[in-house]
Amino acid sequence: MSFSDMPVEVGPVFEGERIRSKQMYVELGGPKIEKHFELVKVKPAKEIKDDEVILIGPDLGEMEEGSRYPIGILVEVAGKELEEDLEAVFERRIHEFCNFINGVMHLNQRYTNWMRVSKTAVEKGFNSFKQMGTILIRLFKAELPIIEKAQVTMITSAKEIDKYYEMAMDTYKKRDERALGLHDEDVDMFYGCVLCQSFAPTHACSITPDRTSLCGSINWFDARAAAKVDPKGPIYAVPPGECLNELAGEYSGLNEMTKKRSLGEVDRIYLYSGMEFPHTSCGCFEAIDFYIPEVNGHGIIDRNADVKAINGLAFSTMANQTGGGKQMPGFNGISLQYIASPKFQIYDAKQEGLDHGLKLIVWMNSELKERVKQFIPEDLQPKIATEQDVSDMSELREWLKEKEHPIVSTWGAEEEEEEEEWEEEGGAMIPMGTQTMTVPGVGGGGGFKIILKNCKVHAESLIIKKIDSSSKRKKK
Ligand code: SF4
Ligand code: ZN
Repeated sequence: MSFSDMPVEVGPVFEGERIRSKQMYVELGGPKIEKHFELVKVKPAKEIKDDEVILIGPDLGEMEEGSRYPIGILVEVAGKELEEDLEAVFERRIHEFCNFINGVMHLNQRYTNWMRVSKTAVEKGFNSFKQMGTILIRLFKAELPIIEKAQVTMITSAKEIDKYYEMAMDTYKKRDERALGLHDEDVDMFYGCVLCQSFAPTHACSITPDRTSLCGSINWFDARAAAKVDPKGPIYAVPPGECLNELAGEYSGLNEMTKKRSLGEVDRIYLYSGMEFPHTSCGCFEAIDFYIPEVNGHGIIDRNADVKAINGLAFSTMANQTGGGKQMPGFNGISLQYIASPKFQIYDAKQEGLDHGLKLIVWMNSELKERVKQFIPEDLQPKIATEQDVSDMSELREWLKEKEHPIVSTWGAEEEEEEEEWEEEGGAMIPMGTQTMTVPGVGGGGGFKIILKNCKVHAESLIIKKIDSSSKRKKK
């Protein structure tokens, strides 16, 4: 496979490339655009025109510099050995392959996909989606040889994307629904995935029927299909081994796999806990389950939220805490599908005397609540607050008492007494097992790392300033 006919270089070496807003020519998809997606479909060979790239909407070179457009990427593939179960796994590779292109940054998946193309790439002549589509086709066929034919359709027209978007959402829904009825105890094989190690080198996902991968795009069926066709690939089978703790979802096989794949960084995982030995998070989780110490409950905010969470933090701020492949008690990257599982954070709930993980949830952003409503027990639904119901911790606490939220039963007399004190404090409280921050040395070299163990950090606001050495000198 060669890319010598392309104006930009292509290869895994460009995977970590970041394109900041100042360097970008255009942004495609992302949180500010309503409808966008990426989808892989397995088709009969006769329905595919091999190597064809179809563009619907304005081309890259015709786009206005500095603007945003919708993006739909539909990859249709054919091959004798292909089955529908492989679609999701192929689809996850779009992220990796787009990032191979020097001058393209790709984040997330499914309907949260977000890309930037750099000015430099466009100046070099990378000015057409036909080039991007061709690169994708070549990479798909080279890296996944069971794909014999591939065709790509790219949609950038806001008008035309509608019907494709609906089809994509429908496909995601069908995939998710299929996995709903299956539970961890029903199967004798689990799976692992290390596709995100290029960004989070110590992160390995455990994929079980009850814990769909945190990116939300690979469920147990998808992982099984991937491991079958490419057992030595990035998605592989993991024998569960011994169940060490049924309530927590601790399995010797998953512990061993995590230890090996995280290079010894993490050696113990509780599948059903966000507080003790939680699953690590890379960066592409669909939502964050975060602990709210003020009410001893949890909140969930999803990636698409355009509001701040009840703790005063935006998704992106909390995502920095949560991600990176570290074990972060109190911050857990999750898939929306996991919320539907009866095992959802059940270990944490039982520690508090509650019989369902969702009974820990006191706050969700309203759009997310609407989306996952069908999975929340009916009597609990009106008790979970959103940004439309409460705006700060004291209002949340009142709301929970008034609605008789099950979490109230976990408040001891002591906490009731503390009420006045925390109301006065306000601000954002970040519960953390361990906080690490790096203070770079002046001039870019050296510096030191501060590790605060078992701490609670309280801050009215967090201000990070770049040290401008010239202004510092002037002051002297
Ligand atoms: Fe694989 Fe997990 Fe990354 Fe999804 S989030 S691609 S399952 S490593
Ligand atoms: Zn990831």
